[in-house]
Amino acid sequence: MSLAFGRHFLSIPGPSVMPDRVLNAMHRDAPNIYEGALAEMVSGLYEDLLRVARTREGRVAVYAANGHGAWEAAISNLFSRGDKAVALDCGRFAEGWAMTARQMGVDCQVVSTGERGPVPPETVEALLRADVNHEIKAVIVVQVDTASSARNDIPAIRKAIDAAGHPALFLVDCIASLGTETFEFDAWGVDVMVAGSQKGLMTPPGLSFAFVGPRAWEVRGDLVTAYWDWRPRAAPEMFYQRFGGTAPTHLLFGLRQAATMLLEEEGIEAAWRRQRILADATRAAVEAWGENGGPVELNVQDEAARANAVTTILTRGFPPAALRKLCEDQMGVTLGIGLGRYAGTSFRIGHMGWLNPPMILGTLGAVETAFNVMGVSHGAGVAAAAETIARGLSEA
Ligand SMILES: *Cc1c(COP(=O)(O)O)cnc(C)c1O
Repeated sequence: MSLAFGRHFLSIPGPSVMPDRVLNAMHRDAPNIYEGALAEMVSGLYEDLLRVARTREGRVAVYAANGHGAWEAAISNLFSRGDKAVALDCGRFAEGWAMTARQMGVDCQVVSTGERGPVPPETVEALLRADVNHEIKAVIVVQVDTASSARNDIPAIRKAIDAAGHPALFLVDCIASLGTETFEFDAWGVDVMVAGSQKGLMTPPGLSFAFVGPRAWEVRGDLVTAYWDWRPRAAPEMFYQRFGGTAPTHLLFGLRQAATMLLEEEGIEAAWRRQRILADATRAAVEAWGENGGPVELNVQDEAARANAVTTILTRGFPPAALRKLCEDQMGVTLGIGLGRYAGTSFRIGHMGWLNPPMILGTLGAVETAFNVMGVSHGAGVAAAAETIARGLSEA
């Protein structure tokens, strides 16, 4: 028996659900790529990207690439072969960025701080204090690790770098979190931030961004190549230079629409609040399901470090693959797979981007229904989520 008709719902941590308006904005003829509507629209779009990242001092380079491309862009512009860096990993993704750096010839140390919580700022400070000759050129972290769903305290890590009196550049991956989590590029003293189009920014995969602050702008390593060089892209003399060739025309029209929705219609701070309330509802459901030795548990133990972009849920006594299959085949909602260490004993719910209460309650309702079909006993998760959303709606 399947009830999976109607709109299929993707509840994974990226790509995220796209607004119909973003899709419709892309449904058009091939535009002139040298002048006209596209060329005129793009300058304003770059300004808006800087507003999303909350920077007046920084610049942005846009790549026709996914997040891995932006990783490579940052490494290629900043480093020379043999340079040292340190990546602090609390799941999987800082390590991923570090592996890219290593393949390119950077001596990047990976320090794993565990997969159930954020990177402790004290660990960053201790590592940098130990580097008395200031050989480490950059500290690499993610804001949200999409595997563990831990959120790092970016301003606290900045303070730790400063407390160590170390000149390392501060590189932050916001691919999962830009548009979803509070982020302040200038105020938090970030030097380089990378992001992608397909998560909090509600646009198909295929665009990624490197935001570059004034200190990082002055740095230039010998790994830089023509395609990844961010200088001509961020400060172009010709429209064509912005994209290192043909512009990704339709994705740009889609992103234009998404930026308008985020900045002009909802407001970025309101979006952060909405994301927090819907994430709180998800967490309330998981905690209620798991009461009294129930079937699930939140992966991240520190309440303050639970991401608003994604929730990683550890499972007990039932196979998460069966739950995901039942939800997808019989109810029309796709849940995220567990990654890394918890691959066979977890699943994830993405709640980033274009999402409202019926969408998140729908996903949680389908999970609870699947527990019932599978004969897995559980607490009252959906009721707890509804209460949490009701409290959110009553906030000032
Ligand atoms: C999704 C993600 C990436 C990888 O992005 P791709 O677009 O798949 O290359 C990197 N870092 C984080 C934190 C992510 O969530």
